[in-house]
Amino acid sequence: MSGILVVAIDAPLRRLFDYRAPPQTVLESLRPGVRVWVPFGRRRVVGVVVETRGSSDVPESKLKTAVAVIDDEPVFDAPLLELLRWAADYYRHPPGEVIAAALPAPLRTGDSMLETSERWTLSAAARTGILAALPTRANRLREMAQFLEARDDADAAGLATVSPRWRDHVRELEKRGWVTKFRMAEAPSPRPDVRASQGLEPTPDQRSAIEAIAGAQGRHVSFLLHGVTGSGKTEVYLRAIEEVVARGEQALVLVPEIALTPQLVSRFAARFDAPLAVLHSSLTDQERLRAWRAARSGASPVVIGTRSAIFAPLARPGLIVVDEEHDASYKQQEGFRYSARDLALARAQRLSIPVVLGSATPSLESLERARSGKATLLSLPNRTAGASQPALHLVDLRRHAATQGIATPTVLTIKRHLDAGGQVLLYLNRRGYAPSLFCPSCGWAAPCPRCDARLTVHQREHRLHCHHGGTEQRVPEACPTCGEVVKPVGQGTERIEETLARLFPDVPLARIDRDAVRRRGALEAALDRVTSGEVRLLVGTQMLTKGHHFPDVSLVVVLNADQGLFGTDFRASERLAQSIVQVAGRAGRAERPGEVLIQTEYPEHPLLAQLVTAGYDAFASAALAERELAKWPPFARIAVLRAEAAQREAPTAFLDRAREIAETIATSRVEILGPASAPMERRAGHYRAQLLLHAATHSPLQRLFARWLPAVEELPEARKVRWSLDVDPLELF
Ligand code: ADP
Ligand code: ZN
Repeated sequence: MSGILVVAIDAPLRRLFDYRAPPQTVLESLRPGVRVWVPFGRRRVVGVVVETRGSSDVPESKLKTAVAVIDDEPVFDAPLLELLRWAADYYRHPPGEVIAAALPAPLRTGDSMLETSERWTLSAAARTGILAALPTRANRLREMAQFLEARDDADAAGLATVSPRWRDHVRELEKRGWVTKFRMAEAPSPRPDVRASQGLEPTPDQRSAIEAIAGAQGRHVSFLLHGVTGSGKTEVYLRAIEEVVARGEQALVLVPEIALTPQLVSRFAARFDAPLAVLHSSLTDQERLRAWRAARSGASPVVIGTRSAIFAPLARPGLIVVDEEHDASYKQQEGFRYSARDLALARAQRLSIPVVLGSATPSLESLERARSGKATLLSLPNRTAGASQPALHLVDLRRHAATQGIATPTVLTIKRHLDAGGQVLLYLNRRGYAPSLFCPSCGWAAPCPRCDARLTVHQREHRLHCHHGGTEQRVPEACPTCGEVVKPVGQGTERIEETLARLFPDVPLARIDRDAVRRRGALEAALDRVTSGEVRLLVGTQMLTKGHHFPDVSLVVVLNADQGLFGTDFRASERLAQSIVQVAGRAGRAERPGEVLIQTEYPEHPLLAQLVTAGYDAFASAALAERELAKWPPFARIAVLRAEAAQREAPTAFLDRAREIAETIATSRVEILGPASAPMERRAGHYRAQLLLHAATHSPLQRLFARWLPAVEELPEARKVRWSLDVDPLELF
């Protein structure tokens, strides 16, 4: 027997597969991480070798032989492969799918890992004198052949120096069997000679942060860079990265959403005189492959990307940065449900390099890590360049008259800022015109036929949309139950835009939300109009809260702080505080002092009162104390087993059985809660329920999963539902 390859295959199975190595393979030279072609069912697929062994437990008669080895060297180095295997285990996800998630699509179908180029060489026969056989008048062919005779081989650029019609001549020689074409991997690019351009003179706080990070070179230290909005965190990353790059190492920078922060990428590009590798979801497959290669070869000293960039291969890793580490987009919410922020910590630890998590509103998990000494806290408590923190004020919606959701004192304040030459940003996390269509005479409210939710009115399109399941309808002429006139109730960004246009008819206005910037490039165009100062009034959703630097914005209005005050999720208040502080942070970033108005019907709510009078840190301390009492993360670990089905009873029936099995396994160290139905039980025609698993630490959960999930997979009830396990869930439903 020639030896066994243990192969990860992109299939929804929580296991690896054994194959006999292809004939003539030298097992010792085959390193884990190389790709192989293997037979799988009736297909031939690409797998990744994770181990080699002398023998297999699979009976000889069932063991198949791998077809061919694809790579000379591994696509993942050992630490990255180890991280992927660990992640598959931690998140209990099929290892082949985890490994596939880390590979650009063309590599999953067998493309070359290295950049290759076409080359041509003279055949052996031609070299031994057949040149003479060329017709005497074929001067061009003769020149071509002589050129190739003088060298081993040549590429397109070389041949083009012989003749502009070289392709025709070479094709002619190929036809006669005198020239053969082959593909060769390009030599790895030399280390770029990177000169960083001069940055700003750091403030003393920035300087201590930069020095602390530099001092951790080659060791694993995790830092929490907690700096208020506009405190110059990006400048700290840039400086720390300059030092890494100057040593010839690479930095990996994770950002929440590249489309939302074009400014950040251009700041990096302007600072480093070397190609950045940028990885995000709207690249073509070939663009992603090119960036992946540049990261792997080390040609790009700085690799910037969204969530999945945490799996980018790095030739000489020196530092990992996670910007806006509290951002929910770091958690993948379907399929392989990993947290890129948590994997950044795990990866940096394996590589013995420092990792910096930065935020103005750190997650409670990260704050607790800093408090307990697992992370080193670096603080930037002040804004740079003389800008001051904006003042926050609550506007009591019960006491003041309002025009379509904008209270009178708010209107007056907006006017004051516009008159003084400031820009005004209004934030409402609800797109569309109105969140429901209502019949005042019978109480009917347009329901979604497929979700337990109401439909949102989109006035401009004259349609009703469901924001949960994607259903769309025409707006009915009249109430379908009583025939009376129906009307939109409540406000979305589209309606606020309409109201503002009426209140301030002469002021240039823009709306930024998913509907308004659907076209490619529309977001960048809108952001440019804001930055250039053309737009004076800006209304938008969550998209506006992230990272933007609009120097002229002097007033920020949070139109409705109450959507989140009474959420059922234990993280609702943390999320609300983060989005309020982040959007407030768009105000007063330059010379103009900033002001923030927060509209609410609950001005006495402790969370709002605390944010306004004491700020995010005070909120976070109180919230951490509550979590500790209630034993929620970060003071405990949780996981949820979710199920959904078109049949109402199926999810609960499955979860009941799953729970029974877990109870026969679980020690008293794992608490099992539920099954419980989702607060919105039906979504897109599916009923949803879940089981919550709770333990003091991760290891009892991990022990339970190892025995429990194989049994759960085998349940007959499992075939009637779609189920998934979410480890460290960010949202409970
Ligand atoms: P953050 O990332 O914390 O929101 P930024 O890095 O975007 O903050 O900095 C906010 C503003 O302050 C930017 O315009 C930046 O150019 C400026 N800035 C940062 N550091 C300094 C410094 N040391 N001196 C002067 N201006 C600075
Ligand atoms: Zn729906």
